[in-house]
Amino acid sequence: MKAEIIAVGTELLTGYVVNTNGAWLAQVLMDIGIATYYQETVGDNAQRMKDTLSLASSRSDLIIMMGGLGPTRDDISKEVMADFLQTELKVDANQLSRIEDYFERGHRKVSKHDYQQAWYIEGGQALPNDVGLALGSFYETENNQIFVLLPGPPFEMKAMVTQYLIPLLQAKHAENHGQVFDSDYLNFFGIGEASLADAIDDIVMDQSNPTIAMYSKPKLVTVRLTAAAETLEEAQALNQKVQDQILDRLNPYFIGQGQDYSLAQNVVDQLKKHKQSLAVAESLTGGLIAETLTQIPGASQVIKGAFVVYQVEAKENILGIDAETITQYTVYSHELVKDMALKSLQKCVSDLAIAVSGVAGPGPDQGVEAGTVYLAIADGKGYLESKCIHIDHKPRQTVREITCLEALNLV
Ligand code: ATP
Ligand code: MG
Repeated sequence: MKAEIIAVGTELLTGYVVNTNGAWLAQVLMDIGIATYYQETVGDNAQRMKDTLSLASSRSDLIIMMGGLGPTRDDISKEVMADFLQTELKVDANQLSRIEDYFERGHRKVSKHDYQQAWYIEGGQALPNDVGLALGSFYETENNQIFVLLPGPPFEMKAMVTQYLIPLLQAKHAENHGQVFDSDYLNFFGIGEASLADAIDDIVMDQSNPTIAMYSKPKLVTVRLTAAAETLEEAQALNQKVQDQILDRLNPYFIGQGQDYSLAQNVVDQLKKHKQSLAVAESLTGGLIAETLTQIPGASQVIKGAFVVYQVEAKENILGIDAETITQYTVYSHELVKDMALKSLQKCVSDLAIAVSGVAGPGPDQGVEAGTVYLAIADGKGYLESKCIHIDHKPRQTVREITCLEALNLV
């Protein structure tokens, strides 16, 4: 099935809003074996939207248009698609009463335009919106071309796709091709993409089902396995077999499974598992480590607190670092980060603490090269380690991001 994704909205066209929906959707489709061949963005203009649909329908099997399902004047996707498919719009009674309830609870009057959110494309089926008011649509033509309408707000779009569109597409795929797909993501930290590829080269070569793909982000390599089979259980079993082979070789680098699994998630999981708490002291990362950790649901159970101590005075006055340590060793030293870790451990009464200080760049500071970073970890039982790393020729933000990952990796 060749997919084409059309994002609708003048704000996307001008770059005011970034089309994150398109990136997310293409990945999710790939997980169920549907490749996206084209993506485009079109403004809120009926003629240009129709032209885009026309081009898409000449070359793709699955055409997904997203955005413009709301109640405002520029939300015209439903009308445009119905017109293109030479059909009408139909009201979903269930959604209509949900809309009325919603406005009643807010003591507001429903306008004519609000009712339009209960419309879907006649001849197709409505895709429920559990977290918003605008219905989506799923429409199949006589020659098995599928047209889908999704809402623009990412939260609503994702809920609709995960809950309703994916199961529908999987069912269609099984019906038309006798196959379903299943994907697994394995995440590795501390091994480069090339070394990882070398380590599993023979497995990849031997294998056509599941297919094996690799992606890398700074410091993190993800291996995606996608298996096809008659049933979901069979596909999962095929993935499992290859997953076991891969983990047999790469277990020391494996941090967890799942598309969005991160090192921060791994740290929070491990701390919970071992009933340990963590404190953080940050200089060049300016709170990034704490921000990354506290994004993970349930972090409050294990993260005690964090100190952002940027200038020398803050290091002394807030954390209580000895002025002499700084004079003698400077802020770029093993001694300093060790002391930062110990002081934050004491102040937070935590089981573990990590600390970072270094030169984010772009230029050197006090004669120390950009990308020179000191990191330390301490525990309450006398363990205290530090190290110095060099993140060469990287922009300031990358230096800060890599420092964050290296610090998390110490835990
Ligand atoms: P609403 O009822 O909010 O108007 P809608 O279905 O009409 O929903 P749009 O008006 O197209 O959707 O978009 C609403 C908001 O959703 C946009 O302002 C933008 O913030 C976000 N959004 C829309 N499309 C995308 C996209 N492709 N990627 C990321 N965000 C998007
Ligand atoms: Mg809108």
